[in-house]
Amino acid sequence: MTAGEKERYSRQILFPALGESGQRRIGQAAVCIVGCGALGSFQAEALARAGVGRLRLIDRDYVDSTNLQRQWLYDESDAQNESPKAIAAARRLQQVNSHVQIEALVKDMTPSNAEELASNFDIILDGTDNFETRYLINDLSVKSKTPWVYGAAVGSYGVVMPILPEKGPCLACVYPEPPAGAQPTCDVNGVLSSVTASVAALQVAMALRLIVGWDDFAAFIHTMDVWEGTAKRLAAGARDSGCRVCGAREFRYLDGRKRTPVSLCGRNAVQLHENARPLDLEVLAGRLRLLGTVRVNEFALRLSVPKYDVTFFPDGRAIVKGTTDVGVARSVYTRLVGG
Ligand SMILES: [Zn+2]
Repeated sequence: MTAGEKERYSRQILFPALGESGQRRIGQAAVCIVGCGALGSFQAEALARAGVGRLRLIDRDYVDSTNLQRQWLYDESDAQNESPKAIAAARRLQQVNSHVQIEALVKDMTPSNAEELASNFDIILDGTDNFETRYLINDLSVKSKTPWVYGAAVGSYGVVMPILPEKGPCLACVYPEPPAGAQPTCDVNGVLSSVTASVAALQVAMALRLIVGWDDFAAFIHTMDVWEGTAKRLAAGARDSGCRVCGAREFRYLDGRKRTPVSLCGRNAVQLHENARPLDLEVLAGRLRLLGTVRVNEFALRLSVPKYDVTFFPDGRAIVKGTTDVGVARSVYTRLVGG
């Protein structure tokens, strides 16, 4: 380590559990961040400042003005230009720490590219907003023995769980199946920047701890509510020997069997066939009315918001009008009903 590096990272080196050897390991570590929204952009900035060696940022979305309230890396010009989040993030991070090797990928992580995009990293950080991608990360993590840190936030509530394959339970041990039906999302239920920052900050602390070695690893689930000012730490328990992922090593998401089939439909629309998520259209109508114009009958619900028209069907299928980009369509769907 150079004298300049010793000075730059001195406050971190002074932290006894890190020291100079910990800082060296941080400087050699490669971290993959999947999703550069509120969680991912905070994680990326914190890790760049911490002096991590290599950061890969994967995000399929573009910055808009509703992101600025909580997505730390982006500014008004990014929203005006609709910059890809990964690119805007990399640009800003390079100003924060020019020594970090940053790779920005404007991509939707799917079963077909997940191994190529997120293999050979020391850690994967969850900055996603949907369970489908989280189970995909979990499959990849167990298969390649790569630790990852799950994180989620909505409203004022957040949850964090570090996952260390072979040493503790995986995501599927704790949550064997994704939640059924429409889920609370930040676009529908709102979210405070203080909870996304808290969740991401804890994910980064867990990542640093994993990078420097975590000899007495004990799996836990940390939940918090920043509005109520409460936090809980629950033991995540042992691995489930019957777990389909870390027990049976059946990588259903990575193998693409749970992949939402998608088709282009019409000149400016994408159809998402999500049959595993039946929707109660009346309940969904109640949730979506604040966002735009909703028309609903027993066969379909149509939501018109700026830029998109989304039609939902009771079997969970949806048509997103206003884009031919499958990643954008999936993102719109996820933000409205969860994923
Ligand atoms: Zn498991």
